[in-house]
Amino acid sequence: MNPREIMDAYNLNPKKSLGQNFMHDPNTIEKIVTTAELMPEDTVVEIGPGTGELTARLAQYARHVMAIEVDERLESLLAERFADTTNVYFVFQDVLKTNILSLVGNKDFVVVANVPYYITTAIIQHLLEQPQRPKRIVMTMQYEVAERICAQPGDMTILSNSVQYYGKPTIVSKLNPAVFWPRPNINSAILKIDVYDEPIVSVPDDKLFFRVVKAGFSQKRKQVKNALSGGLQVKSKVAKEYLDAANIDSQRRAETLTLEEWARLTHAVAELQG
Ligand code: SAM
Repeated sequence: MNPREIMDAYNLNPKKSLGQNFMHDPNTIEKIVTTAELMPEDTVVEIGPGTGELTARLAQYARHVMAIEVDERLESLLAERFADTTNVYFVFQDVLKTNILSLVGNKDFVVVANVPYYITTAIIQHLLEQPQRPKRIVMTMQYEVAERICAQPGDMTILSNSVQYYGKPTIVSKLNPAVFWPRPNINSAILKIDVYDEPIVSVPDDKLFFRVVKAGFSQKRKQVKNALSGGLQVKSKVAKEYLDAANIDSQRRAETLTLEEWARLTHAVAELQG
């Protein structure tokens, strides 16, 4: 049965408010599973299993699948569909309120998620800012968001810096709306993030690093010196001192800075602030 037939059998309608566009194309499901590069001993955390199409394939490749679904209407459907599958566990709650590490213990894990577009970035943040991060994330998301995450210096944003600090993002493929039921009116992409063991640049303190990056982007299309001065609430002369110490031209704009340069700037701020 495909997702539409399963939902009909349980007398359920997809909820737009939960971004319920179910994937019914077997080739796309296969592509997601291959991209996850699962090993037989892997634990997979699936976010938003829906009617369980992808879950069923993941269960064939991984040791355990922990699936987190917010829609409790799907509970009996999923329980019956997976009654004979011993390695899938469902948790019915909001992923953003879920302590994922308590579900996986100390084990390495891979995240696979086809989730609503409006919480994509919140979910990525939730996953990457934990003390123990997944080794890989495979997510279906709005194509433009995937492009923004993979941006290069010249087009960088807070989002691309935050993701690329923790891992290497790659757009694996562009998806036609027809692979979903109901069809969304946007294009999607499968994005893979290979998460590093340690962030790619070394900084004195993660929190300070993100404060500096956010400050640098706090005023759109302004020189980084002015944005930094406003965002860190220091005089423009002090902001210039930070930039000079990091060997960064103070007239540049935040979107042109590399992660290496943000890291140097964070070191300079830490040293000069004492
Ligand atoms: N994985 C299924 C598929 O590929 O067909 C369903 C994908 S559908 C785009 C998104 C799923 O995420 C829905 O089942 C929805 O109920 C669930 N969801 C939405 N918000 C969620 C949240 N905050 N936490 C967990 N699941 C959520």
